[in-house]
Amino acid sequence: MKITRVETIPVQIPIHPERAIRGSLGAHTVSPFLLVKIHTDEGLVGLGEVSCTPLWSGEDQVTAAHFISEHLAPVLLGEDPLQIERLSAKCRQRLAANPFTKAGLEMALWDIVGKAAGMPLYRLWGGPVREFVSTKFSVSGLEPGKAAALAAWAVEKGFRTMKVKVGIDPEEDVARVRAVREAIGPKVRLGVDANGGWSPRVAVQTIRRMYEFGIYFAEQPVPPVDPAWMADVRSQVNIPIMADESVNTAQDAMSLARAGAADVFSVYVGKGGGVNSARKIAAVAEAAGLVCTVGSNLEMGVASSMMIHLAMATPAIAAEQFPCDIHSQLLYEGDLLAEPLPIQPGKASPFERPGLGVELDERKVEHYRVG
Ligand SMILES: [Mg+2]
Repeated sequence: MKITRVETIPVQIPIHPERAIRGSLGAHTVSPFLLVKIHTDEGLVGLGEVSCTPLWSGEDQVTAAHFISEHLAPVLLGEDPLQIERLSAKCRQRLAANPFTKAGLEMALWDIVGKAAGMPLYRLWGGPVREFVSTKFSVSGLEPGKAAALAAWAVEKGFRTMKVKVGIDPEEDVARVRAVREAIGPKVRLGVDANGGWSPRVAVQTIRRMYEFGIYFAEQPVPPVDPAWMADVRSQVNIPIMADESVNTAQDAMSLARAGAADVFSVYVGKGGGVNSARKIAAVAEAAGLVCTVGSNLEMGVASSMMIHLAMATPAIAAEQFPCDIHSQLLYEGDLLAEPLPIQPGKASPFERPGLGVELDERKVEHYRVG
């Protein structure tokens, strides 16, 4: 089998304004994403999604389309799509950085592998290690009353775990977490995600002030600089610390584990350049006695499907303890899939079909196409 064409389609689906995620890095109000289709001479087509934002990795749908057409598609054309590790290495040799762009292509290659094998990806990767993937809701860094209303809405929808965005202003952060806890009652599990917005000293003080609201983890309390910063915070608080912005690669995971900086790694399908990188981070976590969850850059249907396959087949992704951020279907006003993913609030399952198991609704793709 040979790759004959790499097609890209820029899309944008509006986000419900009241559910857009605001954190210490800013607000995610638009998703300038790119769909990828890798065509082959045997008629199999692989689907991928570049879930990129300027805020997160300095990519958007224009840079992704440019780098694919000018640099990465030329590397892939004529090649066997089943040789993913070799093709990913070729892409890395041709283009630095741009992890979400590379991940979109890798995703489409995996979709072809699954379709060629006639198996869903999670079965190809060793089969299910859980019956379904537990998921949580993210409460945006809104003023306390609005955050509380959003959290109550999520509980009503069925979520039993959520995290609140903090790291914006310590007083406001504490007020937001208090309001959310009062709104959701004592039984819903609650974490906080600072997106690196606190200094080490403020992180320790603020996390301790939040003990009374029963928070059970703190994600990326300090900026992704020296692992010693997060290790310092972790040594002074009594809840698990989750690394997100600090862990993009297996090497990052190794240095965080060595520094004793985190209890949990948040892996993505995009930030390390693909699902292969995510699985390597999970392997480092397993070797170090740590666990992972799956984090989100508000992936749409194609990439969300990949997140579910990844979590289904990866033992170190402890979704039961640390539910995954697979909830963006609730944030967008529409989707691109012919059939919505089997996702309910708090619970996601894969389609039992080869590859990613998803198909695009081409009318919806045309509707949300931009540029
Ligand atoms: Mg995060």
